[in-house]
Amino acid sequence: MGSNDAADLVLALDLGGTNMRVAVVSSGGDILARSETATPYDAGAEELAILVAALCRQAASDAGNVSPIGLGAAIPATFRPDGTVGKLPNLPRLSGSDIKGLLARETGLRVELMNDATAAAAGEHWLGAAAGAENAIMITLGTGVGGGIILGGKVHFGADGTAGEIGHLCVEPEGHQCGCGSRGCLEQYASGTAVVRQARESGLIVSTAKDVYDLADRGDLAAGRLFLEMGRYLGIAIGGLLNVLDPDVVVIGGGVAAAWGRFYPAMRAEATARAFPEPAERAKIVRASLGDDPGVLGAAKITFERIAEGRL
Ligand SMILES: [Zn+2]
Repeated sequence: MGSNDAADLVLALDLGGTNMRVAVVSSGGDILARSETATPYDAGAEELAILVAALCRQAASDAGNVSPIGLGAAIPATFRPDGTVGKLPNLPRLSGSDIKGLLARETGLRVELMNDATAAAAGEHWLGAAAGAENAIMITLGTGVGGGIILGGKVHFGADGTAGEIGHLCVEPEGHQCGCGSRGCLEQYASGTAVVRQARESGLIVSTAKDVYDLADRGDLAAGRLFLEMGRYLGIAIGGLLNVLDPDVVVIGGGVAAAWGRFYPAMRAEATARAFPEPAERAKIVRASLGDDPGVLGAAKITFERIAEGRL
């Protein structure tokens, strides 16, 4: 099959809290075209599906008027057994909607819906920093903290498709209240939102995690300490994951991973101190390597597999 054969192409959507990206992806992992726009925070499911369909038409046209055979949609949500979406803390109006049905109606395509961090893990495992690993963990540090798990060379979805919610591992039993209903989740200490909240609690005037990073770079000790604390909490979670899953590699991505040099030493030291020696020595902890693309690439990969299995 040539790379422009329609049977060889899918569309992939990565719906983020800030931006939504669509790409035309070949079964070999080439991105033929992309389209992107800001995610409308207040959009309802129907409005969003119409917007996604327009991005899909644009990307298919830019790729040379191709006719992809499916759409893989990665969204920041958990799913219910009936296929409707559960909680979306960052896109509240989509909660409980039949986004899959609406996307299928508006695009005319078969649609595979999946969690965005699971898709990112599949993408990094396919073509990025976890390529070739039998067992891998991906942690995405963004507005929230997402996670995805590869076991035995395959994405681990779990019985309900909700596996890999590493952001909701408890790292502080009586800690900060989390949107999921629990307390002291990793997401409350290692997300961009958490970095900003904690910086404000320390009296810093900031509006984004990058502001905190810039302050740390200019020598602000309170800002620098926040990244050490963030690294320590990440290390607590990773130490436990190393003991449970004994992975080859832990991949860290998302926008907040840009502060890598500030949190890596504390994260690595804490993880090593808490894990058994064998997994602590074996496991590499590395940055993601696919930039903005692991979500769309992983969504495409999972969709190709579903089609090949006859399940989509
Ligand atoms: Zn939580």
